[in-house]
Amino acid sequence: MTVIDAHTHIFAPAQRDARAAIAERDRTFAEMYGDPAAKMATVGELREAMASAGVDRAVVAGFAFSHPEDIAAQDEAILAAAAESAGALVPFPTLNPALPGWRAVAEELLGRGARGFGELRPANQGWDPLGPAAHELCDLAAAHGAVLLWHTSETVGHSYPGKCGGISAEELCRLASAHPGTRMIAAHQGAGLPFFVQMPEIRSALANVWFDTAASSLLYDEASIARLVGLAGAERVVFGSDYPLLLPGRQLHRIRASLQGEAAEAVCGRTAANLLSDTRTR
Ligand SMILES: [Zn+2]
Repeated sequence: MTVIDAHTHIFAPAQRDARAAIAERDRTFAEMYGDPAAKMATVGELREAMASAGVDRAVVAGFAFSHPEDIAAQDEAILAAAAESAGALVPFPTLNPALPGWRAVAEELLGRGARGFGELRPANQGWDPLGPAAHELCDLAAAHGAVLLWHTSETVGHSYPGKCGGISAEELCRLASAHPGTRMIAAHQGAGLPFFVQMPEIRSALANVWFDTAASSLLYDEASIARLVGLAGAERVVFGSDYPLLLPGRQLHRIRASLQGEAAEAVCGRTAANLLSDTRTR
């Protein structure tokens, strides 16, 4: 079976070299990557990590930069990596809907092969996840079959770099309810949103929302992925490592240890394959 990591990040090599300079102009980047010990990966390292973990395909997402030049540099790296990967890398370049002209950027990225956008952090970038730009982005994504990958922010629990600044479970629920035709991934187990899927009206409102397991071992206890599958169903849960924050091999091992065969196969690849199979031509 095909193993898919639905949540990884890469940067352009020049961005890793310019870490300190970027941190001076971008507060969110400084919070998450200002420390030289915070890992930043390039495509070659991602491919090595995939090979050693037995990962066949990966969604490659960007970082929610503030400035257009940083966004462009990373998006070039993501699109180039995907173009050279023979389908192994699925590009989810980054966007900033707080910037004028963001829609033209998004349309150009879609024309060049973007299959989604992420990892979206509206609060960090200063746009309202329930405002006009967010609705326009959802409509654009739906029209192109693109997937929106959201950093969901838990409203409780321990602090970590980048915790705040994403979308809350309530905001994501309201946005997804307003855009049932837009496919979305709620990262990091959806910041508690899966609990509410037990309400029948929420389950149907979130029929196009998937939950990834990115960074689960840093947030939740060992049984959390099995509980997530119990709440949302294996057809709504996709494995994500959050590479290079965590290595995919160890996270895959955790999932396989906590799920039965069929559910493990779905979470480790089949569900993401279905989600990504029709992200083109709409
Ligand atoms: Zn995230």
